Amino acid sequence: MKIRDRYAPSPTGLQHIGGIRTALFNYLFAKSPAGGGSGKFILRLEDTDRTRSEDSFVQNLYDTFDWLGLKWDEGPNNGGPFAPYVQSERTAHYKKYAQELLDKGQAYYCFCSAERIEDVRKQREAARSSESGYDRFCRSIESGEAAKRAAAGEQCTVRLKIPLGESTQFHDHLLGDIEWKNDDVNPDPVLLKSDGFPTYHLANVVDDHLMEITHVLRAQEWLASTPLHVIMYRAFGWTPPEFCHLPMVMGQDGKKLSKRHGATSIDEFRKQGYLPAALLNYVALLGASYEEGKDLYTIEELAQRFSLDKLNKAPAIFDYKKLEWYNGQYIRMMSDEELAKLCMPYAIEAGIFGGKKEEVHTEAQRHGENKSEEKKIEEQFDLFVKAIFLVKERIIFLSEVPEKIAYLFNEPEVPAAEEFIPKKCDLAQAISLLQIGKEIVRQLAEAPSDEEAENLIKAEAEKREVKLGDLMMPLRTAITGSRVSPPLFGSIRLLGAECSEQRVQRALDKLNDLR
Ligand code: GLU
Repeated sequence: MKIRDRYAPSPTGLQHIGGIRTALFNYLFAKSPAGGGSGKFILRLEDTDRTRSEDSFVQNLYDTFDWLGLKWDEGPNNGGPFAPYVQSERTAHYKKYAQELLDKGQAYYCFCSAERIEDVRKQREAARSSESGYDRFCRSIESGEAAKRAAAGEQCTVRLKIPLGESTQFHDHLLGDIEWKNDDVNPDPVLLKSDGFPTYHLANVVDDHLMEITHVLRAQEWLASTPLHVIMYRAFGWTPPEFCHLPMVMGQDGKKLSKRHGATSIDEFRKQGYLPAALLNYVALLGASYEEGKDLYTIEELAQRFSLDKLNKAPAIFDYKKLEWYNGQYIRMMSDEELAKLCMPYAIEAGIFGGKKEEVHTEAQRHGENKSEEKKIEEQFDLFVKAIFLVKERIIFLSEVPEKIAYLFNEPEVPAAEEFIPKKCDLAQAISLLQIGKEIVRQLAEAPSDEEAENLIKAEAEKREVKLGDLMMPLRTAITGSRVSPPLFGSIRLLGAECSEQRVQRALDKLNDLR
């Protein structure tokens, strides 16, 4: 089967979960076996609403695709920079096709001012009329006369002439056969505005036709527009694409996913430290079931399995906890080095790392300078990778990393005395426990493995007749600045004997001062 589908966002807001799910389903469908390996996924910017479209949202769309690693297959200038289709650059097409409908008598010029339309609305309101939308006032103007007025420069729009007294049918892959009375469709909507820009309906239908879109997979909120679009396809004499309106994404309370539930924009998920692969994997399963008892899929595996028959009719429920689980899984599947690179921006922002490894590196090389500076950066990065190893099993978000490992890069402040005092102990006892810690910290730092460090400290605790936990607690606070921290032995080893000893001594000095 030939598949050409598209994601067609209007840049009037940030990219969010619902939109990205639509994009992803289109992408996967194009790459699925149904497309026989030659399906095309198209990105089209529907930016004809000039009052609501913003450049920053266009940028956000590109950044989101870039971050997710989603690529579209086609654009207007395939030879040049690979841009997507942009409707505001295609206005000549829409004018031409509006003219075609005028010529066929399927559309008409409307000269009604905004004031007149508002007056009609008010009169209806006062008369408690159930009628809404345009009252078809200009539909009866003789077409030759209307064309003359338009040619003379009178302000006008072009409206679709919906055939009345008929009904429109179409098939939706999930919802089945749908029939809509034409008299109930938005009455004679505007196709071309007075500024020459098309409305969403005209541009959407013309482009889906010109781009030979075979399948329209879009959010269910667009279902109400579909009868109108089908009427337009018929008016042009074109075959409509196949439709599949995707169920909404809801929060766990059954309401449409919104800020009240948590992050919704992809930007927020990125900043929180989600991995794109985890987000893609989870979002791809929102409303699709593969029934393999498996959770983790690469994008290629998802495409191999995707089919419209596997989509659910019921709304999808977005579970933030499940997404966190996915993120944890993907974090643990990465190598320490890969993870370190991804965590770098968070570390730089938190000020615990001097600069991006590659950048600083090349900067130093470019000036042919200072080998020692280069070496320092190298060492810092090595430490960073090793630090990642210490926390990898415990993190859900990349953004957690800097805070968890900051003590390895910058000496933490010595915490308050109570942080050093184990249960049922007093300050004097904490000091003597820490004193023992100081005596063995060098050996701990030099122990080749955690196991050997543990044996060593256990033996020491036994010899001194103190509890192991009591011995470790003040030592952990002195080394890491906190009672709760990543593994202590690994931390001591990374900091090295000298630095660890200094930290313990500093803590001892503070506690002794309090005595
Ligand atoms: N431009 C519409 C949007 O902003 C797309 C509707 C469609 O996919 O046909 O979501």
